[in-house]
Amino acid sequence: MISHRQNPATPWLLNVLFIIISASSILLGYLYYKSQKARLVKAKNLELSAIADLKVSQIVQWRTERLGDAVLIGENTPFIKLLYEYLHSDDNSGLRPDIRSSLKSVTRNTGYKNVQLIDQTGMVREYFPDRDTLMGDDLRKMFPDLLKLETGILTDLHRNDKIKYIHLELVVPLINPWRKDTSVFGLLAIRIDPGEILYPLVQTWPVPGKTTESLLVRKEGNEILYLSGLRFRKNSELELTKSLSEEKLTEAMAVRGLEETADGVDYNGASVLAAMKKVPGSPWYLVAKVHQSEVFTTLNDQMAMIVIIIILFILTFGLLLGILEWNENARFYREKYETELDHQALRKHFDYILKYANDIIFLTDRNMVIIEANDRAFEAYQRERNELIGMSLSKIRAPGAVKELEHESRILDEKGYATYETVHIRKDGTLMPLEISARKVEIEGIKYFQSICRDITERKFAEETLKESEERFRKIFEESPISIAMTGKDLAIIRANSAFCKMLGYREEELKSVTIRSFTHPDYIAGDDVSLLRLVAEEIPVYHTENQYIRKDQSVIWGSATLSIIRNNNDEVQYFLVMIEDISLRKKAEYELIAAKVKAEESDRLKTAFLHNVSHEIRTPMNAIIGFSALLNEPDTTEEERHQFIDIIFQSGNQLLSIINDIVDIANIESGQVKLKIKEINLNASLRSLNEQFSYKEKSDLISINLDTGLPDERATITTDSTKLIQILSNLINNATKFTKEGRIDFGYALKDGFLEFFVTDTGIGIPPEHHEKIFERFFQVDNVISRKFGGTGLGLSICKAYIELLGGRIWVSSNTGKGTDFRFTLPYSHPEKSKEKPVEKRTPLL
Ligand code: ADP
Repeated sequence: MISHRQNPATPWLLNVLFIIISASSILLGYLYYKSQKARLVKAKNLELSAIADLKVSQIVQWRTERLGDAVLIGENTPFIKLLYEYLHSDDNSGLRPDIRSSLKSVTRNTGYKNVQLIDQTGMVREYFPDRDTLMGDDLRKMFPDLLKLETGILTDLHRNDKIKYIHLELVVPLINPWRKDTSVFGLLAIRIDPGEILYPLVQTWPVPGKTTESLLVRKEGNEILYLSGLRFRKNSELELTKSLSEEKLTEAMAVRGLEETADGVDYNGASVLAAMKKVPGSPWYLVAKVHQSEVFTTLNDQMAMIVIIIILFILTFGLLLGILEWNENARFYREKYETELDHQALRKHFDYILKYANDIIFLTDRNMVIIEANDRAFEAYQRERNELIGMSLSKIRAPGAVKELEHESRILDEKGYATYETVHIRKDGTLMPLEISARKVEIEGIKYFQSICRDITERKFAEETLKESEERFRKIFEESPISIAMTGKDLAIIRANSAFCKMLGYREEELKSVTIRSFTHPDYIAGDDVSLLRLVAEEIPVYHTENQYIRKDQSVIWGSATLSIIRNNNDEVQYFLVMIEDISLRKKAEYELIAAKVKAEESDRLKTAFLHNVSHEIRTPMNAIIGFSALLNEPDTTEEERHQFIDIIFQSGNQLLSIINDIVDIANIESGQVKLKIKEINLNASLRSLNEQFSYKEKSDLISINLDTGLPDERATITTDSTKLIQILSNLINNATKFTKEGRIDFGYALKDGFLEFFVTDTGIGIPPEHHEKIFERFFQVDNVISRKFGGTGLGLSICKAYIELLGGRIWVSSNTGKGTDFRFTLPYSHPEKSKEKPVEKRTPLL
């Protein structure tokens, strides 16, 4: 990977580690030193303390021995007596040899340098071995007190002009032992040289040491006086003094009463560790000390070694770190160098691309003046290099596009980049549409604009062509009389033309949010889905179907739909094109045709049945007429038989006539030839006559025929075609008698809502509900077999219906199979005043 860092990375972690480790090792070293030092000081202090104790006990012992000597001398009665006599006799020369030999024996003790016999007056009366006949100054000062002594004392160390060496005296008071007088009669002053025992006792050290030393001091006014000889300052006994207030001075500390170990300085100012003790029974203080430098020599040597090791360690670590960093730096610069090489290669490559790029590339300054351009630019603008460089961009813009330049450059300056289209002009004046991608660049702190311009002449042309073609398509789409819609893959409508919208009753906006399925009749959706899958799978090129669609007003229309796929460049389904033609009218016509066909077939079937019936119905009475007419001529026919035959012939003729009438009536109705003859009648009278006729005709006792007139006679006068009305009622009553074995037949009328409602009810076989409508159709009979049994042509009810409607009413039936039938029909109730005009003629409409 190419590094983009300007400087090598500092190994912060290692540096921090280095600092931590270095600081830790220094701290550890220091702590070790401190602990070792404390340990050493403690050990040395113990040693010094022990030595000081030893010294003090030895000095005390030495003093005790000396004072013991004084006691021994004082208790040596012959010797005391001898001295007394010598001092109190006038002629004592004889005693003198004894005295001297006694004094000599006293001095035989080690360290006793000289002895003087002093009388009560302070005169030196005898001496050994020196010839000093005078008391020392120190003793003289003390003399009166000495005469009061009861036991021997030791004076302090001193020297004077006469006795140059340092000494001290053991003063023994001489008291006469056998006399009651205990007064001191003389003194023995034994001069002791400390150099012989005391000083060596003080100065000797039990273990070898270069700076170890013990010494004696005493307080002298505000000063300290050094009593014993000093190791590092010769001849300073009783000579050297130091101020008592020197704080760090160990001797001063001792005199100030400190009896322990401490560190401080000695008389030479050297740092020492010292143990200080007072010598009991004397004004002396003992200081045992050693130079700190000696105590810490080994430790310091050790520490020096440790310091060297730490320094070496730190140096080594630092060196390693340095090498590592150096290595890292070297690697960084090597990589940087390699990257730079790569960059150079890239730059060259980039320069090459710029030079030979297919797009025009400009570099302009802030004022939009061209300062660099590639070869493609010179070629495109048909200008020489020296011509184009230095030219303002506005000069190569088409006149119409110049004014936008300022706005575009401002946006570029603000945003740092801009993409726009404009038109440039070549030297020969031809225009060149361009797509420009510009960017603000900074080179060595100066801002420039770099523009990459692509010639889009061809694209523009293609766009124009596409636009035109799209416009054409849009027009075709929009203005097509066929309903067309474009949907997405999910069948959601994207666009729909006005024919489409009109067909379904929606506005285009309403359709845009829905799919084709939402207005397809549910019965067809599943079938559509299957076919769509086949279409997408390219099993079928287009999908054609005839579906029902639900309009916005919920009315259902029929549509002939054609669905095709619009695919994108990758051959993926992008849109569906749906074309629907409204075929509702055609479908209606088809249905009507089918219905008509069915009806025609039915009618054909009925007519066949009718012909069957008619031939049967005609043939039956005809046979009767012919047969019985022939019998009339038989000679052996009786009169009674002839009457009977004539009656049969008459009835058959009537039956035939009735059939022919029916056929003629229906033929008239069908051809619109029925004429109404409206006149005034009394309804009650007509109905009563009809009742009589049927009651007369109905021979069976099992059936009763009953009339119910709804109006009183005076109000029962109406205007109507009485023949047709009677024919209607006759037909209905006829049927009732035909299909009723027993029970009753009621007929009559009632006035209801301005209409006369007639009824004919029976208790006969009834009519199944599915035939209630059909019985009014021509030639229909509920069951041909049964009807044939009862006779009839299937025309009666259709004639009734046609006549009733012609008279301005309607007919209906209610019936229960096996229980009976109730036929009802209405006629307008017209008052005779109104209908007194001449009879009207009305023709039936064609059925
Ligand atoms: P038809 O001459 O066969 O009686 P109509 O048109 O008068 O012809 O009657 C058609 C059919 O209606 C009859 O064939 C019969 O099946 C049924 N029908 C009519 N009136 C009655 C009735 N009162 N009771 C039962 N069936 C009836």
